[in-house]
Amino acid sequence: MKCRHCNTELEHVFVDLITCPPSNDMVKSEHLNEPEAYYPLKIFVCHNCLLVQVDEMKKADQIFDSEYTYFSSYSSSWLEHSKNYAEYMINRFGYNEKSQVIEIASNDGYLLQYFKKHKVPVLGIEPTANTAAIAKEKGIDTIVDFFGTKFADNQLANKGIKGDLILGNNVLAHVPDVNDFVQGMKRALKDNGVITMEFPHLLKLVQENQFDTIYHEHFSYLSFIAVRRIFDHQGLKVFDVQEIPTHGGSLRIFARHAEDSSKPVSQNVYDLLEKEKLAGMESLSFYQNFQQVVDKIKYNTWNFLIQMKRDGKKVAGYGAAAKGNTLLNYCGIKGNDLIRFVSDASPYKQNRYLPGSRIPVFEPNRIREYKPDIVIIFPWNLKTEISEQLSYIRNWGGKFVVFVPELSIF
Ligand SMILES: [Zn+2]
Repeated sequence: MKCRHCNTELEHVFVDLITCPPSNDMVKSEHLNEPEAYYPLKIFVCHNCLLVQVDEMKKADQIFDSEYTYFSSYSSSWLEHSKNYAEYMINRFGYNEKSQVIEIASNDGYLLQYFKKHKVPVLGIEPTANTAAIAKEKGIDTIVDFFGTKFADNQLANKGIKGDLILGNNVLAHVPDVNDFVQGMKRALKDNGVITMEFPHLLKLVQENQFDTIYHEHFSYLSFIAVRRIFDHQGLKVFDVQEIPTHGGSLRIFARHAEDSSKPVSQNVYDLLEKEKLAGMESLSFYQNFQQVVDKIKYNTWNFLIQMKRDGKKVAGYGAAAKGNTLLNYCGIKGNDLIRFVSDASPYKQNRYLPGSRIPVFEPNRIREYKPDIVIIFPWNLKTEISEQLSYIRNWGGKFVVFVPELSIF
């Protein structure tokens, strides 16, 4: 297995989570008697370019099947984040009715709608057909496809479409061929255009034990050092960067053509490089102690759940997120004896079963009826929001639990 960026043989394991089914493959009740496909989930770090990555190219078309159940518009905090981004970009770069904004993995149009409100022309690119259909209903021009050089040439450049802004949120880390993807953006970008990408920051993943953000759909785990190198290699210069709180700590990078001298490199770039260097991210040892941390979380999770069972406590979960599936599958939890059910606000997840563990997913109201002593919040990055929404569990003495970055009961 070779590094996806620099083609060096991968030799060093970052973490081995053994095997897991694709984390978004919710199981329907009529499929409960059928087997599930499990794939290895082993993450390597390249000793040459320090890109952290999964070791196999799992077929993208299998993961993004047409029934992919994630719709961005269901989270109010994410919509707020997107709205603020659109307004910030319009203010900073002056986009108007003559500009072209292109979003890669535009989902249901959750973000482009805010550019459209300001009359900025938008184009979405989205691989899942049913999600793209919702965007089109909102009047957001969307092409159903994966993005890469082939798409950039055939669907954009050859048709005279180039972006003043090309953006992608939580897509860069999900791309199997990262070089081709970044080269595609280079080809689809106007001479003075800007690219922004948001992705979870590997520094946070390691410092805050966020191993449950590792899953098959997530091919790369990105440091600023590694990303800058990948963009440089394709003739793109990262000229600014912001640390943002989404997904437990993300980066938003700003890139331009290397030849475009109109945008000087911000001090933020040098500061963040220094920060990563001080944390040790330029040396291999930074990446090689993570397995022990992850195993400790597994043992603490087991201890806690078994203790609750012995004490006769009622335990439920909230948030049928990919994160929870990584945790439950790595811990080898099967069935609903330790966690009775998981509630989720998305109707697309309700009355299905979590992949691997096969814990049933119900509507949020089920928590009110069941009155659990413990509610596990799987999307720990939303623990404040969720514990406020479910604060009524305090009426019967209920408590919340998260397992990452460490076991915490509150
Ligand atoms: Zn490499």
